[in-house]
This record gives sequence, C-alpha cells and structure tokens, in this order.
Amino acid sequence: MLHVSNKDIEDQVAPRALRSARLISVVVPVYNEAKCLEALHERLCRVLDAYPDLEREFIFVDDGSRDHSYATLAVLGARDPAVKALRFARNFGKEAAMAAGLRATSGDIVVLMDSDLQHPPEVIPELIERWRAGVQMVIAVRRSRETDPLPRRLMSRGFYHFFRAMCEVHIPEGAGDFRLFDRRVVDAINALGERNRFMKGITSWVGFRTEEVDFEVAERAAGVSSFSFIRLLRYAIDGLSSFSMVPLRVWSLVGVGLAFASALYGAYLILETLVLGVRTPGFASIMVGMLFLSGVQLISLGVIGEYIGRIFTEVKQRPLYLVAEEIGFSRSGSVLAS
Ligand code: UDP
Ligand code: MG
Repeated sequence: MLHVSNKDIEDQVAPRALRSARLISVVVPVYNEAKCLEALHERLCRVLDAYPDLEREFIFVDDGSRDHSYATLAVLGARDPAVKALRFARNFGKEAAMAAGLRATSGDIVVLMDSDLQHPPEVIPELIERWRAGVQMVIAVRRSRETDPLPRRLMSRGFYHFFRAMCEVHIPEGAGDFRLFDRRVVDAINALGERNRFMKGITSWVGFRTEEVDFEVAERAAGVSSFSFIRLLRYAIDGLSSFSMVPLRVWSLVGVGLAFASALYGAYLILETLVLGVRTPGFASIMVGMLFLSGVQLISLGVIGEYIGRIFTEVKQRPLYLVAEEIGFSRSGSVLAS
C-alpha cells in the first residue's frame, strides 16, 4: 500500500531550491511626477545593484502628465538603457497605466509601484526573497496610514470592510498596488479582457500563492496626490460593481421583504375595516408608503444603471488606453496597440 508520511509532505511543501530570476521588470505609473522620477530611478538602481546577476527593465507609463514627466523619462532613457517609457495619448487613469505597464513587461518577476516614492524601493529585496522561496505574489502592506488625512483613512477602512462583506475576492487591509508578481501571475492578469480594471480586485481574483510583507509608507517625495474625494468615490464604486453582484441582487430581497410587510399591513387593514367599520383617515400611511417606495425604486434603478453602464463600456470594446509615444521598446515588441 502507498504510504504518505509527514516527512514526504514536508519535502513537497518546503521549497526544494531557491528560485532564481534572469530579468526583473519594475512597472511605474506616472502622472505629473517630474520631480520624483530621477530620485526614484536612482534609488531603484541602488537597490538592484545588489543583484549583479539580475537584469532589469524599468517600465514607466506616463499617464498623460501635464508637466515634464515624459521629458524627464527621455533624459533617463538616454542615460540608462534599462529605462523604457510609454506615453498615453491622454490621462486614462492609474488602473489603465498599470495594465499597460504589465503588458509591456517581459521579466520573470515584475514589481509594481507608485512613482511618488511612497513605496520605498528598499522594500524590493524583501519581496524578491519571498518570491525566491516560492511565493507567486508578494503584497507589500502598509503598516500605518499616517501619511493619509484622517477622513480618507476612515473612508478607506469602511470601504474595505464593506468590500469584504459584499465580494467574493478578499483584499487584505492596507494592501495597495505595491506588489511583486511571478511571470505566471502577470500572464494571468494580462489575459483578462475586462475594460474596467480594478487592480486590487483582479490581483486577488487570480489567486496564486500569495504572501504579505509589511512596509512603512513614506510621505510623498514631491507634488500632491491626484486622488480627490470624488475620484476615490468613483474608484470605490468601480471596484464594488466589478466584483460584486450583491447590489443587484439585494433589491429582490428588499422587494420580497416589502411585499411581505405590505401583505401583513393589508390584512390588518381588512380586519380593521371588518371589525370597526369604515374609517376615513389614511393619508399619512399612504404618503409614507408612497414616498418610501419611490425612494427604494430610485435607488434600485440607480444600481441597475451602474451595472448597465458597465455593460455599455464593455460592449463598446474601446481600448483601455492609447499609447502616443514610447521610449526604449523595440518595434517588434511594441505595445502601441492595446
Ligand atoms: N497616477 C496615474 N494616473 C492618475 C493618477 C495617479 O498614473 O491618473 C499614479 C501616480 O503618478 C502615482 C500613483 O498613481 O505613481 C499613485 O498616485 P497618488 O500618489 O496621487 O495617489 P495616493 O498615493 O494618494 O493614493
Ligand atoms: Mg501617492
């Protein structure tokens, strides 16, 4: 009889040999960050110099910046052949920039990070170590949110709790877009055809062996955050409606509950009329019922509209982004078409 001992299992579970990579790609979305780019490049180089056998490519995606970001990238590109850059035809948003960057990579491991130095490059060696030990996606989780203003902190906490309750995919609290992916994970993400990209949801949805690493989020090196309250709200609604059917389904439950309650109330009214005879008052109950129900109907219409809007963007089949220019990519490997 075949006997599997605990030792056999341990041998299988433990990484047999540390993996090694040939090429690392670093993907950085850039929007009005001219002042941060040079420092970022320098710190990245310093960190990766510790890995002499690891070739590198830096893929900067200029998401339609209105400052000198692209010119700065061109200067860096002329100095360092590892620097590659794409420039979008306009601002398509961070999610599109990350999608474009991931598609342009060819590394065995891919690191995704912000360009404002809030994600310190010095964390990368820790991410690489985890990958070597066999992890396929390493998420850098921010230990504190002290750099964010209090209302934003509260709202994002609320959002993640709500998201977890409503959606099947799990987003670890404090997980941002600072991550390291194995090639397989990047291929899986690239193969997803949806146009509404909620990267935090997508990366959880694909699964794979995932681990978290803590890091201390830094202050922005220069400039200001481009995420206003309205933009964050839109981001939250996008995320929820991409990964949850609960808002659509909940209305049938509400409907059933209301129908049940009104049946009870109707029965009570009939009984009352039979026992006490006809009474005229009733204006208040009619008004309350009517107003409440129209409120419920308007909300549910809005929710349905949200999803239909989503279907609308998907069926239009418009590209996620348009690339206007690029630096450092060979023609054959061009990512001009999305
Ligand atoms: N970003 C982008 N496109 C946008 C907005 C932001 O590519 O439309 C980039 C930005 O350059 C930065 C990252 O996304 O690298 C995070 O942006 P930001 O620092 O403004 O956001 P926060 O750190 O406040 O969440
Ligand atoms: Mg930032």
